[in-house]
Formats: sequence, structure tokens, C-alpha cells
Amino acid sequence: MVNPSSVVAALPRRPLVVGNWKMNGSRVANGELLAALRSAGPFDAEVAVCCPFPYLPDVALSLQGSGIGWGAQDCSSHESGAYTGEVSAGMLAEFGCRYVIVGHSERRVHHGESDQVVADKARIALSHGLTPIVCVGESDAEYEGGLTESVVKRQLSAVVHTLGHCVSQIVVAYEPVWAIGTGKTALPEQAQAVHAVLRAQLAAASTRAAEMRLLYGGSVTASNAQAMFLQPDIDGGLVGGASLKASEFSATCRAAMAAALESSGKSKK
Ligand code: PEP
Repeated sequence: MVNPSSVVAALPRRPLVVGNWKMNGSRVANGELLAALRSAGPFDAEVAVCCPFPYLPDVALSLQGSGIGWGAQDCSSHESGAYTGEVSAGMLAEFGCRYVIVGHSERRVHHGESDQVVADKARIALSHGLTPIVCVGESDAEYEGGLTESVVKRQLSAVVHTLGHCVSQIVVAYEPVWAIGTGKTALPEQAQAVHAVLRAQLAAASTRAAEMRLLYGGSVTASNAQAMFLQPDIDGGLVGGASLKASEFSATCRAAMAAALESSGKSKK
């Protein structure tokens, strides 16, 4: 019988699955969701949930000691000051956040966030000890126009230039916009091709690119997760809708670990 933690430690990258609750939930519903998630754990994959700002204290309390991390869905690109309505990375750190999503397409589209603003958010998050999950991804029109590679490279390039070698401390999530919340998932091979491009771009900036986690996001569910996570450069997922159901989300987290073990040729038995 192999010790599960030694199997996990031997993997080149520990899979990571992050739930993005978006603007969903209530104090009661969140409590139930997190209690169910806790009892479904512990997970060998690293697991975290990114909740709306006001729920952070409740989420921190519910998840304390569970091994499941928590984070937020955005932060300001500024340190502090006259930025009404914004929340700083320092504030998120005070609530024990491990992660913060930056550059989600819903922020880029609805709030006009530029590549440079997203890069500045990643920089400030790192300076407060948070791990930014930097989202990149092409729109439907860009996909149809064959622009996927150039769009994601442009988006990541701003982050690489801003962070320099510290870029190795981020997580990147490739989320084709046409796959978010639509039920249309990219084919695993399509997503892998984009992930390989992103990892090569990171490798040009950091010697640690092979250790970095690159996530796929876009209509991930428990049933399509394993095929996606079996791809060599896909190290887990950023999960929206399916993170709102404990059974679906926990099955997705288990699929990430099963895929990592399968592709490394290791087994826990
Ligand atoms: C997301 O919001 O980042 C996302 C991927 O959503 P969904 O899983 O619902 O497509």
C-alpha cells in the first residue's frame, strides 16, 4: 500500500481545482455548500473556492482547518486610497485568502479591464502574498477568426513583462470566452494546444515554467473533467457553474487527481 501523500508529492505538479462562485450564493446556501464540500474531502488535489467579497469571513470560518483554500474573484490594481467600491489585495490577505482571480473575461468585458490593468492586479496580489489566477482566453469572434493563439499570447505577455521572473508564482487559467457558462467545452486536444503555447511563453520568461499550474476553465463538469485534466499541460480547472453543487465540484476535484495519477503512471493502490 503506497502512502497517498508520497504519491502526491512525487507528481510534477499538484493538480489545482478552483471554484468561481461569481455573483451567486447567500449566507445560508454557502454554509450548506461548504459543509457538504468539507465532508466530501479531504482531497488529494489542491482545492479552493473564490467567493464574493462579503462572504469571505464566513467562508474562512467554514473552511478553517479543512485543507480547502479560499480566495476572491478580483482585486484593485491600486494599493489603497480614493477608489470607491474597490477592494485591495492587502484587504484580501487580511481575510486569509490564498488566491485571487484576475482578468476574468467577465471583468475584461463588463469593466473594460485592459491587459496592463490585469497585469498590475497580478503584481499587487503577489506583493501581498496572494497567488493570482490570471485568466486569458479568446472571444467567440476571435476563435472563429483563428486568433486564439495571438490573443492569449498578447494577454499573457503583459503579465510576463510586468512580473519578470516572478511570473512563476502565478497560476494561469485558459478560459475560452465562448466556453464559459455555455455548456460548450473546448476539445481536450484544442485546450492542450493552447496550454502548450502558454507554457512555452512562460518558459521563455522563467526557468520554473515546468512547475507552474495551468488551469482550463469553460463549462467544466464532473463528467468532462477527467479527459481535460489528462492533457499533459492542463493541471486542473477553474470551475464556475459546477462549483455551486458540492457533489459536482467534489467529483471534479477527484477527477483532477485521478487524471494526474493516471498520466504519471502512478496509482494509490
Ligand atoms: C468561470 O466562471 O470561470 C467559468 C469557467 O464558468 P463555467 O464553468 O460556468 O463555464
